Amino acid sequence: MSKQHPATKAVDGPGGESVRLAGQSAEAARNGTDPAAGKAASKTETSVDDAPASPYPGFGGLSIDFSADTTVGAPTAPAPLPEITYDSPSALTVPGGPGHTATGEARTETKLLIIGSGPAGLTAAIYAARANLEPIVIAGSTPGGQLMLTSDVENYPGFPDGIQGPDLMNLFRAQAERFGTQIVDVDIDRVDLSARPFRVWARGVEYRGQALIVATGASAMWLGLDSETRLRGRGVSACATCDGFFFRDKEIAVVGGGDTAFEEATYLTRFASKVHVLHRRDEFRASRIMVDRAKLNPKIEIHTNTAVDEVLGDEKVSGLRLSDTTTGKQRVMPADGVFIAIGHKPNTEALRDWLEVDAKGYLVVRGETNSQIEGVFIAGDVHDHRYRQAVTAAGDGCMAAIDAERWLESQGITEANTLTAW
Ligand code: NAP
Repeated sequence: MSKQHPATKAVDGPGGESVRLAGQSAEAARNGTDPAAGKAASKTETSVDDAPASPYPGFGGLSIDFSADTTVGAPTAPAPLPEITYDSPSALTVPGGPGHTATGEARTETKLLIIGSGPAGLTAAIYAARANLEPIVIAGSTPGGQLMLTSDVENYPGFPDGIQGPDLMNLFRAQAERFGTQIVDVDIDRVDLSARPFRVWARGVEYRGQALIVATGASAMWLGLDSETRLRGRGVSACATCDGFFFRDKEIAVVGGGDTAFEEATYLTRFASKVHVLHRRDEFRASRIMVDRAKLNPKIEIHTNTAVDEVLGDEKVSGLRLSDTTTGKQRVMPADGVFIAIGHKPNTEALRDWLEVDAKGYLVVRGETNSQIEGVFIAGDVHDHRYRQAVTAAGDGCMAAIDAERWLESQGITEANTLTAW
């Protein structure tokens, strides 16, 4: 059964980019398609696709059955939220509170700019929008952050049966848009933080904000092999959730020894006939439970002390040249695909000239969420290499929004006590 997305529509942003309206999925916004068909194939017991009609018509078409019989005493369905209007083709969600829609051009000036649309950026947007800061989120061309590349999320509070990462991010996004956040799905090119308003350029358009929250997160790392780059999208991937479907009954490999590698390997056994985990050492960074789960899975074979020297194949991946990291001995492993799951690096390229970074390239936070520039705040994985969890990033986004609001108030840019309630 496919998901029913509510009426979706996009309008042209100031740079000709697609500004997605409430209720439209990120994937649909990027591709102009409904991802429901592809998602259905990867549906598992944690899928929400089969749940009854949602009490939240605006939440990306998701249905969450709170009445399911769980062992944790789930509450009965809460009262429905106020209805949100999506139907007018010219209606763009704008600041003004829940359900408020109006026609008009996408804005480029705001009290609060947010760069990044993962849990940190969108939580900041929810809080800021409810505080009438009229946030604009520069979401990136692949919005939603790392959870868009994650399958089952079993540790995000409030979802006792788990939830798919992209579904969780659709909920974040719908909630931010519901309160009037404007979200623009483009990458930033450069920033100028020398004076207020802070300026951010994205696809040739200048956005201005009296305050700025940087929540650009971190991105998947690659091995750095020429053959890996050449065959990317032709059997080389860093996203099991996105591409696992294409490897039905195929033999594939996952590179890495952390939680991501084991999570992806386990997920990929839904499709693949065999999944080889290739790790360069004989000890794992992954949590014990993830490794044990993989070891019990008959489709997974773990190869330690194994490095990938080359991805083989002309038009598409046909195998891997591997070497033993202790003996140096090489061998060829036939494989139809390889998923690289070796960690992440912070997305700070456009910001390094302005904001302090540590030895690993992560932004340095002063106090709670402050940067060294007054009015510029930092949230989420772009500075946090210790916890790196969706829930900690979301908490960080909340803190940054509160700090930004208080700072704007101290500068006389917002009136005191304009908030409803945090
Ligand atoms: P990670 O913990 O940093 O692990 C990266 C793995 O890749 C390591 O085993 C590392 O090997 C290997 N690696 C790094 N560079 C490599 C290279 N050039 N060639 C070959 N192998 C390389 O990263 P992660 O697995 O993405 O996890 C990041 C954080 O997210 C962790 O805190 C993790 O717990 C969390 N996470 C949690 C979940 C969950 O709870 N469901 C899921 C995913 C991630 P070495 O060990 O030899 O350095």
